Amino acid sequence: MSGPITTQDAPTSAEVSAGAVEREVELERGRETMVGELPVRRVLPRRMRRTVGSWCFADHAGPVSVDEEHRVDIGPHPHMGLQTVTWLVSGELLHRDSLGSEQVIRPGQLNLMTAGHGVSHAEENPGRFRGELHLVQLWVAQPEATRHGAPAFEHHAELPRPELPGAEATVLIGAFAGEVSPARRDSEHTGVELVLHRPGAVLPLRRDDEYALVVLAGALSVDEQVVEPGVLAYLGTGRDECRLEVGAPARALLLGGPPFPEPVLMWWNFVARTREEVSVARRQWTERDERFGTVASRLRRVEVGPPPWDPRKGR
Ligand code: MN
Repeated sequence: MSGPITTQDAPTSAEVSAGAVEREVELERGRETMVGELPVRRVLPRRMRRTVGSWCFADHAGPVSVDEEHRVDIGPHPHMGLQTVTWLVSGELLHRDSLGSEQVIRPGQLNLMTAGHGVSHAEENPGRFRGELHLVQLWVAQPEATRHGAPAFEHHAELPRPELPGAEATVLIGAFAGEVSPARRDSEHTGVELVLHRPGAVLPLRRDDEYALVVLAGALSVDEQVVEPGVLAYLGTGRDECRLEVGAPARALLLGGPPFPEPVLMWWNFVARTREEVSVARRQWTERDERFGTVASRLRRVEVGPPPWDPRKGR
């Protein structure tokens, strides 16, 4: 699972996200697109909302039926300057990367790959799996301090699960409701899955952080605005808590953190600061430079043409 980010998702210039707004609920509908054969709802980035904390990408896929013939296979492709966060609601997925990692992920587990200077990976339907696949893949923009660093991969089978009145939470990344995820983080962002059983769940938040909600199943309302799958509900900063109402059980992700202070340029599978960085990375991937390594996968490498600002485009 991964991008690619196109100019429909984000402009090809490096910008900081639209300014954080206090206690706003800003609903923005995502875009339906395809990643390989898989239809996804892309709710981040949006043109006006490039980041939420350091979260810079969110694709919500499925539920779709998969079996030996209808598979979700994403061949080897590169990343830089970001972390991929993979979270399944149902199904199974096999991750392989250029570090030699080979990891099946199942619901309730976290795959976290840090790209730094460069990594490549493939994601596929494990051989015998048939059933429903329902998942989200998120990217975290790495700060200047680590974005040129070494790649890494982590799998977390166990994550903290604080109980809240009316909700079960799982802390994927960061700190929430007194619990801290063991997953690496290079900035102070937070990612939490919420399963909401009854109305009136109250989420403890940090006043200086901005937040957004992404509904994965069902519907919820926040400040009397209804939020359903396919929508980014941006909550802004300035909240100590947030109350969620549901009419039936619902599942959502809470994403947050201090507004990301650095300008971000996203194109294809890269998070950068300048067009030159992206052009160089794309060329090195095409030329099979060792920067992005090799993935032990039988799937075909994913290639892309030059970026829209490249003078060689069209030749
Ligand atoms: Mn990817």
